[in-house]
Amino acid sequence: MTARPDISGNIMKGIPVSPGIILGKAHLVDRSKVKILYQYLIDETQLSAEIERFKSAVAVTERQLETLKGRMPEEVKQHAFILDSHLMILQDSMLRESTARRIEEEKINAEWALKKSFHEIEKIFSRIDDEYISNRIQDVESVTERILRNLSGDTLESLAEIKERVIIVAHALSPADTSELNVGKVMGFITDVGGRTSHTAIMAQSLEIPAVVGLESATLKIGEGDLLIVDGNNGDVIINPDDADIIFYQEKQLQQEKYKSSIARTSHLPAETPDGYRMTVKANIEFLEEVAAVRDHGAEGIGLYRTEFLYLRSSLPPTEEDLFTDYRKVIELMTPEPVTIRTLDLGGDKFASGIEITKEANPALGLRAIRLFLKKKGLFKTQLRAILRASIYGKVQLMFPMISGLQEVLDATEVLNDVKRDLEKEEIPYDENLPVGVMIEIPAAVTISDLLARHVDFFSIGTNDLIQFALAIDRVNEHVAFMYQPFHPAILRMIRQVVKEARKAGIKVSVCGEMAGDPLCIPILLALGVEELSMNARAIPMIKNIIRSISLEEARRDFDRVVQLSTASEVRAYLLGRMKQVIPELDEKGYLRS
Ligand code: PEP
Ligand code: MG
Repeated sequence: MTARPDISGNIMKGIPVSPGIILGKAHLVDRSKVKILYQYLIDETQLSAEIERFKSAVAVTERQLETLKGRMPEEVKQHAFILDSHLMILQDSMLRESTARRIEEEKINAEWALKKSFHEIEKIFSRIDDEYISNRIQDVESVTERILRNLSGDTLESLAEIKERVIIVAHALSPADTSELNVGKVMGFITDVGGRTSHTAIMAQSLEIPAVVGLESATLKIGEGDLLIVDGNNGDVIINPDDADIIFYQEKQLQQEKYKSSIARTSHLPAETPDGYRMTVKANIEFLEEVAAVRDHGAEGIGLYRTEFLYLRSSLPPTEEDLFTDYRKVIELMTPEPVTIRTLDLGGDKFASGIEITKEANPALGLRAIRLFLKKKGLFKTQLRAILRASIYGKVQLMFPMISGLQEVLDATEVLNDVKRDLEKEEIPYDENLPVGVMIEIPAAVTISDLLARHVDFFSIGTNDLIQFALAIDRVNEHVAFMYQPFHPAILRMIRQVVKEARKAGIKVSVCGEMAGDPLCIPILLALGVEELSMNARAIPMIKNIIRSISLEEARRDFDRVVQLSTASEVRAYLLGRMKQVIPELDEKGYLRS
């Protein structure tokens, strides 16, 4: 393939998070809060006009909320009360009258007065001891934002309504925004912020659309309608490319497509090394809709079903019936292959409007995942009941996330046993031998993996969080993304320890973080004796192909070299060199991140 032409000035480099090359028009979307808030004093003569301006923004807001309510599809009508509560907030004197009064008394513009009223209400709410009531401030904030947008004439676009084939350019996209994307139209996205293992990035892979994050100033440098080339393999974004760039990338795109179809032909073969070591390769999913892709790509089961999205998609927690129906479908579609369902891992970078979580300074370290569920046992039991009831429709495993100590395992098991007893009383069947495992993703869990191994049926190593917590880097923060280092000797030693303890105790161990789908990590995971990998379905054909190309003996030799190296970059450089030797095509086609 020809070398890339010199690209001058209009190239940006970000973090590649979902592979593939796309060429298309930029569409800028703003998912952030209203930022440009002009604050100015007004004089006596402008007072009544300013109050009128505020009142008409409130009236527009009211009409918008009424229209939204009227347009609500039948299936979600039960959530209309949320819009009703927003309408009530809109009428409330704390917001409405106090803002008008501020404009008049303090002689300040409407935006400024409204912000001040909001902060006053926020202060009052923060003193309320009741968690539910204090959390309602989010609704007040949402109404305030809506009025502010109407004051500024700025409207929030629905991502589901994008009708053209475009590449989304945004400052940030939340996992909830991403789940709204119309993938029939949206070719891919790029953002200013974000890290390699953020859930937004992981979702881009699930949706099979190329994405680059952490570009820092994409929304400043790119204009609406600019032509973009996005290379999701190496993180390059080219703005308004010339003909030579376009030809070069179209050729690269074609080469990748050819390579993808050649490996797809062997994706149903087992992942066995030339010297006979057999690995099980499974898929991670977020939505039921992904199951078809999972089967197509040759997965031997689902190793991680992240169950947050049913909670993120609606403004009320899903019912037991909603959950049961969804799990049963996934399980039945996958039968006879097994499905590992992870209990809710809310918090961190995933928030559901239907579950109260107090605003925290450090949500990644906050009341999340199993900690949240052990406080909200009602919600926990609902999910466990749904999983247990669905367990009779195939082969199911249950897994708890974010385990930091044995007590959490014991407490979670006690709740599980309670739920089992309830089902027995009600004569509802469930799989009595349902294996129960834990995610190993907090360094403390690594250190006590010998103790944990005595109480669970399997371990699944969540390298995304393990790297975040072990190296103290926020996985969604682009400023520390350069420190996301799977090859850091500390991480390799931790994985080695967990695998050793699991083997000693005779339980299974898998890796389900992004490392499992990273070509360079495969020799290491093979050499360490990991038995199972679970990854984004799209990565499976390539990873199976790599396993079939490296002997266990070679992988062990490589690992012996790697343990003598002291830095992540040395390890990576060594593994990159080896992979280029073993499967040169991977490098030629741009699959090895440089
Ligand atoms: C992990 O932390 O590695 C993991 C698989 O879970 P999640 O990415 O959902 O946090
Ligand atoms: Mg995790």
